Amino acid sequence: MLHENYSVNAAGHLCLNGADTTVLAEKYGTPLYLLDEDYIRARCRLYKRAMEKYFGNGSSVLYASKANSFKKIYRIIDEEGLGTDVVSSGELYTALEAGFPAERIFFHGNAKTDEDIRFGVESGVGCFVADNYDELRRLDKCAGERGVKQKLILRVTPGIDTHTFEAVNTGKVDSKFGAAIETGQAMELTEKALAFKNLELLGFHCHVGSQVFDPKPFLDTAEIMIGYLAAVRDSLGFTAQLLDIGGGFGVRYVESDPQLDVDATIHSIAEYMKAKCSALGFPLPKVLMEPGRGIVAAAGVTVYTVESVKTITGFKSYAAIDGGMTDNPRYALYRSQYTVYPAGNMNANPDFVCDVVGRCCESGDIICPNARIPMPKSGDLLAVAVTGAYNFSMASNYNSIPRPPIVMVSGYGDHLAVRRESFADMTARQL
Ligand SMILES: *Cc1c(COP(=O)(O)O)cnc(C)c1O
Repeated sequence: MLHENYSVNAAGHLCLNGADTTVLAEKYGTPLYLLDEDYIRARCRLYKRAMEKYFGNGSSVLYASKANSFKKIYRIIDEEGLGTDVVSSGELYTALEAGFPAERIFFHGNAKTDEDIRFGVESGVGCFVADNYDELRRLDKCAGERGVKQKLILRVTPGIDTHTFEAVNTGKVDSKFGAAIETGQAMELTEKALAFKNLELLGFHCHVGSQVFDPKPFLDTAEIMIGYLAAVRDSLGFTAQLLDIGGGFGVRYVESDPQLDVDATIHSIAEYMKAKCSALGFPLPKVLMEPGRGIVAAAGVTVYTVESVKTITGFKSYAAIDGGMTDNPRYALYRSQYTVYPAGNMNANPDFVCDVVGRCCESGDIICPNARIPMPKSGDLLAVAVTGAYNFSMASNYNSIPRPPIVMVSGYGDHLAVRRESFADMTARQL
């Protein structure tokens, strides 16, 4: 199986964390997002231990909650002692509603509104991740009006190309995010940030991209960032105490993907960074990482019911399910690959090739082209694996299709964390 929390029981059914997905589908209906709570906790511990062990110095982990944002997940992240990233007032509101401590929240975003800034400052957000001068100016004003000194780090771009999908490649010089080190603009922005009376600059942030398996871009980033910190100290006399190196560790979606060794990769980044620091005579800062996908993706499985099966003579076959791009837009957006399991028929021969497609009026509504599964029939269950990240959080109501519920699965059993959206929920805002 793709991950250790997936298994097959004696009845030949797919299990998540030991729970039979067909039983859960019967209990809660389909489409259904399942999330393995124990797996999420284990991943939090894996990342946190590695950061503490290899970097020390108060180094830790922020969960990038844009990957999957709802109240229960913020409670889990809080209980595991991680901080969290939010990228909007909506995520901030959700985290606060869940009781997440504001001081462990980092507030991202390249286009924060005055309302975002006010909400963040008034909520006592621990740290802003400021993107540009317009934000700094407004953040300083807002903090001044409230008589607070707002902590922040600055987002800079190290000029790294991760060679992943263009839309998730964020660390290049030409990017809508942050200020480029290479052009001198990061240094200019740093100088300006230090001059604001109501702002306290702690350090810097960078994030090079997502779904990266190769450690090289992370090592290159470490090298450039430490070099930048030393340059800032030399030119501006400011010694950064915090360095946030972003997220982006790859996760295995299909058998041909590698399995990234999180502990070993963090170890190698730490060793590299320490060597770079000592070569430049720079004190190792407190280092933060922001995994999103790495914490939640493999915790998730989405269960669907097959509604229809057809074969276009001389072309190909389709299995159409009761969900699709509304609950998982990632194939439509990025051509992301997925693994489809015949949830109730795992031991049968997967000798049928078909496109698993959704129910939207849109030919691009595809979950997985050329899936290999046993010949399905209407009423069978299909499970799409590794859907814990960027599925629920990217879901839409296109075609007025309600969003699925989220059910948490743990050693204590299963429980609803987000109920199924109703038609009335969808029309509630319509006047
Ligand atoms: C998206 C994002 C992350 C998380 O990326 P993953 O690939 O899910 O680990 C972390 N930091 C920032 C700034 C991001 O935009």
